[in-house]
Amino acid sequence: MPELARFAVFGNPIAHSRSPDIHRLFADQLGLKLSYEKIAVPEDDFEKAVADFFQSGGRGLNITLPFKMRAARLCDELLPAAALSEAANTLWYRNGILVGDSTDGAGLLQDFEQLAWTLRQRRLLLIGAGGAARGVLPSLLAQDPKQIVIANRSSQRAVDLAEQAGDPRVLGLSLDALAEQGVFDLIINATSASVSGALPTLPNGIVGKDSACYDMMYAAKPTVFMEWAMARGVQACADGLGMLVGQAAASFHHWHGQRVQIGPVVENLRRQMGQEA
Ligand code: NDP
Repeated sequence: MPELARFAVFGNPIAHSRSPDIHRLFADQLGLKLSYEKIAVPEDDFEKAVADFFQSGGRGLNITLPFKMRAARLCDELLPAAALSEAANTLWYRNGILVGDSTDGAGLLQDFEQLAWTLRQRRLLLIGAGGAARGVLPSLLAQDPKQIVIANRSSQRAVDLAEQAGDPRVLGLSLDALAEQGVFDLIINATSASVSGALPTLPNGIVGKDSACYDMMYAAKPTVFMEWAMARGVQACADGLGMLVGQAAASFHHWHGQRVQIGPVVENLRRQMGQEA
């Protein structure tokens, strides 16, 4: 029997990763057979583990925390989103060259499309200035928003990220300075605060009932940020499960050249998460 094409996600820790389930569900949609493992890589071994994986015939890798920036430095060629964010979550070989992309932004946009949220000429607030915020910023800018305000607990990181974007529509601020900014059309929580059930300190005036609110974190029940928004009358609220599936779909497209549907996979994972809760 021919060996199955091999894919994997490298991270540390990795036990929580849903990527193997997602890629199996994508493969099922197309009747493909493949192997996709999650592999915990020791911090010191990352570069060697990547080289070994591809030398032994591996076809594609996803990379998650804490290795995305090291992955980008290993690549011979970076696609624009990875070059701008200096981080890669998807690796593969093309004509003997190691290529890297960052698909978080594409995943977020694909989810916005599913939700029918448009960004054109809208005022956006991106809370957080870590890897996730940095990774999605170029994709958000490409949607022709009116303005993107980046606000972060450590305000200098927000100011630096805005400066790096080099675009007059992007402004970096402290969370405190948000009180003077008025209502936003879309607020994206790209902080890791929700992971520990915390909420960044946010003024009430930034959100109205017609605002949309998105938390990149996902869970079986609404996150604290979603609860904050719903308590202020927001109806368009979503967590980051669709983004997770969307970024995986973009990786899948790089490796297999085929588009998959994200909706049924999001529903399947949502059911699984409900059963686990
Ligand atoms: P980083 O560690 O790179 O950045 C964390 C960010 O959160 C920083 O801006 C930090 O601020 C801020 N922060 C953390 N705790 C608090 C708090 N209590 N109050 C205010 N701000 C806080 O993480 P990532 O950028 O990689 O990830 C951010 C989130 O996005 C995570 O929840 C992650 O799970 C999610 N994510 C989801 C994806 C998806 O597909 N759905 C993909 C990628 C990420 P400071 O700079 O001041 O420390």
